Amino acid sequence: MSRNVELFARANRSIPGGVNSPVRAFRSVGGTPRFVARAQGPYFWDAEDKRYIDYIGSWGPAILGHAHPEVVRAVQDAAVHGLSYGAPTEAEIEIAEMLIERMPSIEQIRLVSSGTEATMTAIRLARGATGRNKIIKFEGCYHGHADSLLVKAGSGLLTFGNPTSAGVPPEFVAHTIVLDYNDIEGVKAAFATHGKEIACVIVEPIAGNMNLIKPITGFLETLRSECTAHGALLIFDEVMTGFRVGPQGVQGLTGITPDITTLAKVIGGGMPIGAFGGRKDIMQNIAPLGGVYQAGTLSGNPVAVAAGITTLRLLSQPGFYEDLAVRTRKLADGLVAMARAHNIPFSADSVGGMFGVYFSNSVPTTLAEVSASNIDMFKTFFHAMLDEGVYFAPSAYEAGFVSSTHDDNVIQATVDAADRVFAKLAKG
Ligand SMILES: *Cc1c(COP(=O)(O)O)cnc(C)c1O
Repeated sequence: MSRNVELFARANRSIPGGVNSPVRAFRSVGGTPRFVARAQGPYFWDAEDKRYIDYIGSWGPAILGHAHPEVVRAVQDAAVHGLSYGAPTEAEIEIAEMLIERMPSIEQIRLVSSGTEATMTAIRLARGATGRNKIIKFEGCYHGHADSLLVKAGSGLLTFGNPTSAGVPPEFVAHTIVLDYNDIEGVKAAFATHGKEIACVIVEPIAGNMNLIKPITGFLETLRSECTAHGALLIFDEVMTGFRVGPQGVQGLTGITPDITTLAKVIGGGMPIGAFGGRKDIMQNIAPLGGVYQAGTLSGNPVAVAAGITTLRLLSQPGFYEDLAVRTRKLADGLVAMARAHNIPFSADSVGGMFGVYFSNSVPTTLAEVSASNIDMFKTFFHAMLDEGVYFAPSAYEAGFVSSTHDDNVIQATVDAADRVFAKLAKG
């Protein structure tokens, strides 16, 4: 029996499903998860010492590649001075100032320990600041696993959502309106009906949790103008896109300014961290200044903050994002060229260091279009690439991530592997 199979069987005895986060279990592609033994740069090695080119990068954080020596040194240096204090540190001010300087919409910011905590608190803050209860989210956008956000559209237009998780009482999502991503008319209709009751709209301004889906022209603009017109707050969930699509997130790319922004993933450089920030007058509603409560024993953890500061500093090198975007685009274009050569219905897209691959003839703009792609062919592709030593996200509903260590040789090796895999797929 292989070592991965052995470990998975053992993991299943002590951990539900054998994993600590569901997508790691390979349920949507089948087969045995690879247990990671170590990682360096663009690669990780599994329990059988097989090497993979890694295109998930911890689902986004590993933008500098795994175990970047300067980030590792910052973590080691911080750790020897103690792992957590429960009292403020100068480093927390430093990272707050760095994030404020970089993100156009953020005047004040608070650190938490995960993206889920950031979005959960951002919603509470929006409700507290506006004195309203209803929120709008979009189907296919993931904002962490807080109760009121685990919801899908109900039947019929403008109905309130149904929980997507057992254990969430329908009452807990009764205030959540679920709309389709990129549905401009749906947004206008929801505001026309419920405008005075809507506290906020939360959106992935470029979606990465239903594969990569970009906003169509006018979508984010409409969110901004409807929120402003009706006194609702606009929350950009940039947990994935922040410092991933460019140096200032989607708000920097589009010039559209949200009221509140949530961050995590890249800003911790691989350590657990999250943050929410925005206009000062809104942020002043948070305890101890205002009535919206939020706290965290490990918030602003000194080791995580050290990793974050060093990561942000390295990302500020001139040309970093230009190089990353070129590399990522080269991967997407290379995969498309190989698929075309073998007559496989396939498309790919990218923005900054983030990409999507779709077994459909054109790049989708909705969740329904992702669902209509050839998911069975994706599964076959995923496993064949895994055999070739290339690790893509184990689901057709996830984006992929490229790091600054994925150099031309690594990208070319991936495209060459895809050539062999597409040839096999073409034979059926
Ligand atoms: C990953 C993610 C989250 C949740 O972050 P965690 O750190 O996993 O809790 C929230 N929103 C978006 C857009 C994400 O990609």
